[in-house]
Amino acid sequence: MSIQSNLNTIQATLPEHVTLVAVSKTKPVSDLMQAYEAGQRIFGENKIQEMTEKWEQMPKDIQWHMIGHVQSNKVKFMAPYVSLIHGVDSLKLLQEINKQALKNKRVIDCLLQIYIAEEESKFGLDEKELNELLTSLEFKELKNIRILGLMGMATFTEDQNQIKKEFTHLKSIFDSIQKLQIVDLKTISMGMSGDYQLAIECGSTMVRIGSSIFGGR
Ligand SMILES: *Cc1c(COP(=O)(O)O)cnc(C)c1O
Repeated sequence: MSIQSNLNTIQATLPEHVTLVAVSKTKPVSDLMQAYEAGQRIFGENKIQEMTEKWEQMPKDIQWHMIGHVQSNKVKFMAPYVSLIHGVDSLKLLQEINKQALKNKRVIDCLLQIYIAEEESKFGLDEKELNELLTSLEFKELKNIRILGLMGMATFTEDQNQIKKEFTHLKSIFDSIQKLQIVDLKTISMGMSGDYQLAIECGSTMVRIGSSIFGGR
């Protein structure tokens, strides 16, 4: 199957309110260009350096999403152009993004990553930490970032009930934060190639799909 037909097949199954992030990490620019020519404009990468190299080479109407874990000292490299940072998991990182956004005279959109899996290797805030962050004075002072929503990754398992439980948990955190009216959340980024349909059933509005579009890595 070609990249174009993979994309078309997936797009056809997505409800209108769900945004597709084409996860292109490790793939060459020629593969991304095939997706671009098929109409895809949102790409997700998990390494800042790789994303920046691709941004330099590719058309400027692409929206670049950072979906990986972000180290503070590298934020400056993507601050001029990044469209959405999915994996923000601390106040310290938000402060650095805010600082670099200010330098670039921009407001950078972010998602806060929530820990929903039962895996030590995954990052993210729990509900209490999320509440503390959003209600802190330090957070209020950040004028050059905007929190658009939440992001989560389910446990890597075949157990659909487990995954469903984790997605439902993220949705319930989203709903309870919405009620606090501190930030106007719009986006729930959850779901990858193997579980995006389930994620959408559980309330996802943004899916991050790599291997089903570009093939295995
Ligand atoms: C790689 C990656 C994806 C895409 O995974 P696939 O299984 O290839 O669809 C989604 N989200 C994150 C955070 C990733 O690192």
